[in-house]
Amino acid sequence: MPALEIDSLHVHYGGVHALRGLSLTVEEGEIVALLGNNGAGKTTTLSAVSGLVRPSAGRIVFQGRDVTRARPEEIVKAGLVHVPEGRRVFSTLTVHENLQLGGYLVRDHAELRRRIDRVYTLLPRLAERRDQQAGTLSGGEQQMLAIGRALVTGPRLLLLDEPSMGLAPLVVASVMELVREVNSQGVSVLLVEQNAKAALKIAHRGYVIENGECVLGGSAAELRGDQRVVAAYLGGA
Ligand code: ATP
Repeated sequence: MPALEIDSLHVHYGGVHALRGLSLTVEEGEIVALLGNNGAGKTTTLSAVSGLVRPSAGRIVFQGRDVTRARPEEIVKAGLVHVPEGRRVFSTLTVHENLQLGGYLVRDHAELRRRIDRVYTLLPRLAERRDQQAGTLSGGEQQMLAIGRALVTGPRLLLLDEPSMGLAPLVVASVMELVREVNSQGVSVLLVEQNAKAALKIAHRGYVIENGECVLGGSAAELRGDQRVVAAYLGGA
């Protein structure tokens, strides 16, 4: 059973037809990259999957369960967690408080502590900064905190929206390494990226989205070798 199946999804914002029959699949254990230009519909796809926008047609199935019209908190509880663009950490709260907030649905305090400890083991930089205000972290550290906070909810599938945005190349590489590590621990990932090169380095497969539709799909190696992808998204090099 796939981790996620999106079938012929349509989203309208008033008169704007943002998704026009988009279909894609994320298999269990995969990192799938979703590439596309500004305005193609990448963020809308993630928002629809996490229940933040209501599709006008089509179906979203998470681990065999139809979640097309489920509420955002039900979707998080089911194990599908969205890390939005722009690393929205709570800047006046500490690193530790941000991680605790990620566990707001976790009733068992001992379990919450274990999950936060696991994030600190994975991300020792956050452990060193546990009492620091999140707003004073570097951009890369804030991105790692945003992902760490999502991990505290115990996801089976992570939706990551442009985790590389605004980060220096070396920092992008360490964020991508974190995504790979999280994936190797059994979490499937749908990764939206403008940075196609970085995304295709860690992804197993990918899709190209244009005008609200997937126009191309394949393994990461196939996409890296595709002339259209090279010309449009890999800088023509
Ligand atoms: P970017 O990389 O720039 O974030 P994207 O591929 O994520 O782009 P979306 O943000 O999903 O694209 O936008 C898809 C289309 O829907 C665009 O034409 C956009 O202007 C429109 N759109 C997105 N959000 C809204 C909204 N809240 N109201 C009206 N139109 C919207």
